[in-house]
Amino acid sequence: MIDPHFDDSHRDLDRRYRDFGESHLRAVARHEEAPIERAREVGSRLGESGLLAPAVPTPFGTASGRGVLVARERLAYFSLLAEMVFSAQALAAQLIGAAGTEVQCRRWLGPLASGDVLGAVGLSEPEAGADLGAARTQAEEDGALWRLSGLKSWVTGAGSAGVYVVLARAPGSEGPRGLSLFLLDGEAPGLTVHPIEPMAALPVAEVRLAGTPAVRLGEEGQGLPLVAKAYEVLRPGAAGAACGLAARALDETVRHAQARRQFGRPIAAFPTTRMALADMHATVEAARRLARHAAWLADAGAEEAPRAAAAARLVATGAAEAAVQRALEVHGAQGLVRGSTVERLFREARALRLREGTTEIVRLELAEAILKESR
Ligand SMILES: Cc1cc2nc3c(=O)[nH]c(=O)nc-3n(C[C@H](O)[C@H](O)[C@H](O)COP(=O)(O)OP(=O)(O)OC[C@H]3O[C@@H](n4cnc5c(N)ncnc54)[C@H](O)[C@@H]3O)c2cc1C
Repeated sequence: MIDPHFDDSHRDLDRRYRDFGESHLRAVARHEEAPIERAREVGSRLGESGLLAPAVPTPFGTASGRGVLVARERLAYFSLLAEMVFSAQALAAQLIGAAGTEVQCRRWLGPLASGDVLGAVGLSEPEAGADLGAARTQAEEDGALWRLSGLKSWVTGAGSAGVYVVLARAPGSEGPRGLSLFLLDGEAPGLTVHPIEPMAALPVAEVRLAGTPAVRLGEEGQGLPLVAKAYEVLRPGAAGAACGLAARALDETVRHAQARRQFGRPIAAFPTTRMALADMHATVEAARRLARHAAWLADAGAEEAPRAAAAARLVATGAAEAAVQRALEVHGAQGLVRGSTVERLFREARALRLREGTTEIVRLELAEAILKESR
């Protein structure tokens, strides 16, 4: 892994995630039953191996832009489910680290870093997807606590999480400024989890809240700015996840092109197959360079880091979709077989465009930044 953006610590981290993937993920990634239970298992194994600390900000963990990128790239290469466990942990930890009181940070960040507790973040609702400002979950003050009621949808890690960060509003408030973040214990009364079944077996669920006790995280009305900042910090990692999935599509395609014979020769002998491999390689490498550069800029605290991360995320999710398409072409009918790796990658790749801000919203943010700069 020779790369000017990485030092020995990143190379070491990369090796640890790769070893973890080879030992615990490669053989089982195609088992698609019970994703929530599998997420719990993967989370506890990652924790035991010390591989959740890079999801958690210092001093409780060791998170950095490049560390998160390395983790997400390697995990997504083997299993998007494992990558999602890590990224849910990272998002929850980032929000708690940015907005939590000392007591809240002590209570949750150490256990999140060790993997004793898994985290989940509930922002989306059936009527509030890209437009989180429309979230309706209510938070009513009850002495020192708050009581939350509402429905959160598409919560990654729900059901295995010991702590939830949830976006909710004071009764009667309207619009984005009425939204705050809250912390809920995973065992809290009134919290129930109802699995969603997307086309890929990913650990997502609806979370219903019925007067669930919670404490506020951060200032009143600061929910959306805190979420926007956390997405920005994690965005090079989101690009990394897409690069990992794209790299797997490429590796599977190289292998298949050498093994599959037609007209008495491996299909790797045909110019069209070779061109597909060359295009895939170039696309994956370009995305990787952008993602790593964005993570490096983030670690350097550079002003242009958010813009670079947005560009990297766009290019990398596009690269993942393009790589999967080419992989399917080269695999022929094999690519359509349920349970084959490329078929799984095809179903998983779509999720990359939606998580942590949709591709369209990231494009709008990037355009806004470019225009602002030129004013
Ligand atoms: C695998 C997976 C995991 C997820 N994990 C979580 C999680 O842990 N926590 C959580 O809270 N949410 C999670 N989500 C939800 C995710 O954040 C939402 O799917 C996303 O915000 C988009 O919302 P939506 O799907 O309702 O699409 P909609 O908001 O209905 O949007 C539909 C389409 O319209 C586009 N669009 C919407 N508004 C605009 C606009 N103003 N301009 C241009 N285009 C626009 C969108 O980009 C999209 O293409 C997850 C989703 C998936 C698929």
